[in-house]
Amino acid sequence: MIVLTLTENSIKKNLKVIEKNISYIDLLELRVDLLKKSEIKKLDSFPKLVDLPVILTYRKVEDGGEFSGSDISRAKLFEELQYSGYKYFDLEAGFYPRIKNSDLTIIRSTHNFLQKPDNLEDIIIKANSCGEIPKVAYSVNSFGELLDFYSTMKRLSDYKKIVLAMGEFGLSTRILSKKIGSEFTYSSCNSKLKSLGHIEPNILCDVYNYKNISKRTSIYGIIGNPIYHSKSPELHNSFIKSKNRDAVYVPFLVDDLQSFIKLVEFLDIKGFSVTVPFKKDVVSYLDWKSEGVEHIGACNTVKVHNKKLFGYNTDAFGFINQLNEVVNLKDKKVAVIGAGGAANSIVFALKREGAIVTIFNRTLENAKVLANRNGCKFESLSNIRNFNNFDIVVQTTVAGMGRLKKINPVKDYKFSGKEICYDIVYSPLKTKFLKKAVRSGAKVLYGDRMLKEQALEQFKIFEY
Ligand code: NAP
Repeated sequence: MIVLTLTENSIKKNLKVIEKNISYIDLLELRVDLLKKSEIKKLDSFPKLVDLPVILTYRKVEDGGEFSGSDISRAKLFEELQYSGYKYFDLEAGFYPRIKNSDLTIIRSTHNFLQKPDNLEDIIIKANSCGEIPKVAYSVNSFGELLDFYSTMKRLSDYKKIVLAMGEFGLSTRILSKKIGSEFTYSSCNSKLKSLGHIEPNILCDVYNYKNISKRTSIYGIIGNPIYHSKSPELHNSFIKSKNRDAVYVPFLVDDLQSFIKLVEFLDIKGFSVTVPFKKDVVSYLDWKSEGVEHIGACNTVKVHNKKLFGYNTDAFGFINQLNEVVNLKDKKVAVIGAGGAANSIVFALKREGAIVTIFNRTLENAKVLANRNGCKFESLSNIRNFNNFDIVVQTTVAGMGRLKKINPVKDYKFSGKEICYDIVYSPLKTKFLKKAVRSGAKVLYGDRMLKEQALEQFKIFEY
């Protein structure tokens, strides 16, 4: 069930947030400590204003909230509100107001913003024995700690609990809450809570199809560092939805590949995409490699079957499809700008189609290594001003993307206007390089289709 944590400072503003998210959520958590003092008198009527069960929480500063008063006044508030229609009271360990209403369920919560609590198993077992629901939220500071979180929760699978891993490594625990036996997952619309791993309810439902996830749902994902900017979860989960498959595709921020490989077995992950910086390192874990992976030495797709890892590279798939639609590549002169991971796959694919490739790169040595592996020419990027006879110019560097969007790495090339110019950067779509190419009259191709097609190809691999 999805809890929406209400973080506005007035009931009126919170009601607006509820109205906006009503189709996504199952429960509300009203945070008294975030409300203005003048709103406290309205707490008695709040449950009657909303059509959902409400958790009442009054969080102290040391537990991550904003209340800095005494426990006596906090206890008084809970005691006074126990017959007002709240379904749950969230009370921290050691805090015992006199609650007599047996219709109320106590969520016994523990928050640790540094690490796993030492006595985590005791906390969960004790609350269960008292008829309370334990809520344990703690920060995981590495992928190794996340692996430990999942294995601890597996050991505690017979107990009722609400559990989540806070921090940037912990996002998957909010999406996979049902897989780890957590009664609720917490969401909010407050961007300040994102650092704790909070996620918006519409993202949980619209992107991750949360409501359809069950213990049987197959897990797929993408690993990288950074990873949360990736468009792959949106693409893959939309394929999953359109094919009506019982699966979910989750982003995993990884700082230690070996721990992730252990998690693959542990969570029975059926397949995963691989992005920067793991495309090369993952190869040593593969039990089988496609021809592309063998040649390129990099893998962006791993399918798991009978505990064995099968590696593929779909990076250049959409790139070649799109190009083949507009030109026969045999004997065409192609300039590839860049010699990084993407260029690796692209040069391999272009050579397979019979193109004559010259690699231009900022660091000559990297261009040389790639050129020697594929039997093509190479040049320093600064020499590109001396060339003007290419049929196709392919831009594969990070220059032009995101914070480098003002850079055109091909600014010195003298276009004839007859070239086909292709930039694989997809954010922004219209890079400085392509804008200049358009002005010269050249035909241009954008990077978004390549992204979509390589993901579709991954999806086909995952399906079998
Ligand atoms: P990468 O392995 O890190 O390679 C980076 C390349 O960019 C290297 O050739 C590097 O040259 C060059 N470079 C970096 N800064 C530069 C600068 N200021 N001026 C000129 N060259 C510079 O990255 P990648 O994985 O190949 O990804 C490259 C780009 O392709 C990214 O923008 C990525 O989003 C995009 N991409 C798109 C798709 C798609 O489906 N559309 C798929 C994969 C990648 P040095 O060797 O000199 O460092």
